Amino acid sequence: MTNNQTMFESLKKELSRRSLLHKVGFGFMGLSVAGTLGHIIKPARTLAQSEAAPSNEPSSVPPNKKLGWAVVGLGKFATQQIMPSFAECKSSKLVALVSGDSAKAEKYAKQYGVNPKNIYKYQNYDSIRNNPEVDIIYIILPNGMHAEYSIRGAQAGKHIMCEKPMANTVEECQAMIDAAKKANRKLMIAYRAQYEPYNLATIQLAQSGKLGKLKLITSDHGRNLNPKDPADVWRMQKKLAGGGSLYDIGVYSLQAARYITREEPVAISAMTYSTPDDPRFREVEENVNFVLRFPSGVLANCTSSYGYSNTKRIQVFGSDAVLELDPATDYYKHRLTIKDKNGNQEQKIEEKNQFALEMDHLSESIIQNKQPKTPGEEGLQDVKLMQLIYEAARTGKTIKV
Ligand code: NAD
Repeated sequence: MTNNQTMFESLKKELSRRSLLHKVGFGFMGLSVAGTLGHIIKPARTLAQSEAAPSNEPSSVPPNKKLGWAVVGLGKFATQQIMPSFAECKSSKLVALVSGDSAKAEKYAKQYGVNPKNIYKYQNYDSIRNNPEVDIIYIILPNGMHAEYSIRGAQAGKHIMCEKPMANTVEECQAMIDAAKKANRKLMIAYRAQYEPYNLATIQLAQSGKLGKLKLITSDHGRNLNPKDPADVWRMQKKLAGGGSLYDIGVYSLQAARYITREEPVAISAMTYSTPDDPRFREVEENVNFVLRFPSGVLANCTSSYGYSNTKRIQVFGSDAVLELDPATDYYKHRLTIKDKNGNQEQKIEEKNQFALEMDHLSESIIQNKQPKTPGEEGLQDVKLMQLIYEAARTGKTIKV
């Protein structure tokens, strides 16, 4: 058996031991991942992390207890990924829909067994406060609408799951956090990669020292924006999208660098480029390359693009081995390879429905009254850093964080 195989066998044993302890999948690497991003500067974050720390306690969710979820925005991601994933949830069920399109809402209500009385329009969204079946509202609208609908949802007394990126501005993110606090409700950002087994294994491997001393992380997220796809039309508009490729998918590159190092960057440099005269990039940027330096000396070279072909890749370079996760942040079919002096070896881990895991994580956090692992503060930190990335690109200067 090679070193890699031995390393991976012991990781797999540890995973299966934990997954026995945690019947609900998200907890299976909880001990190691609990400290993810634990060095964040803000005290609120530290608190979040410590409260979030999954323990070896079995889930306290009674077997038949499922919290009720309302989905706001019945677009591509909601209908193709999130709504079908409720079937695999242990603690979450779909009970309400919010949409501007009644016919579409009725069609999906029928398909998912949602009571027609639980269909809302944007105009009567606030009356969801009177619906005791709804515990959690999941905001899956264009980014520029996240803040308004999260805040109104919290004011209606509901817990909130909000899609990434959290919002367009730091101020909006802070207002969302404040609204949830004021209403004494939980706010979680849907950073699915932090609940996905291959990414959790990557964090574990990087942190275990099995790759040697960490030196470099590269993370590339790109796709070719399609102006004919309705889901890409709002992505070309700054008001609705907040930013371009960085906000939409570069946030995965940024997240990866942070959750793999478990550190916060201390210096940022960046460069952007948008193809001149390409009508897709009148308001938002095409390409962003950024470099982060972390306190340990790890550098991260990250890219995001709306111009290059579909890419979702993370590489972790250690002094003894290189880990490649490609695709890294896809919905399924992740591929993890360790490359060292023994050659390249692919490592297999059981795929799980990351959407079901993240939704159940919030439901269970509510039931157990714990802070979720990716609270609003986590989304705020990324929006702050993305603003600094733009500033670094604009000024051509390395920014000390
Ligand atoms: P989409 O365009 O398919 O869905 C957006 C929905 O919002 C549509 O139903 C649309 O009708 C509705 N909407 C309401 N008001 C609107 C307005 N003024 N303009 C445009 N649409 C309006 O987009 P999507 O790809 O489903 O993205 C929705 C959110 O989900 C975004 O925040 C995106 O970043 C996020 N997302 C996350 C992932 C992930 O893997 N976590 C993947 C895709 C999208």
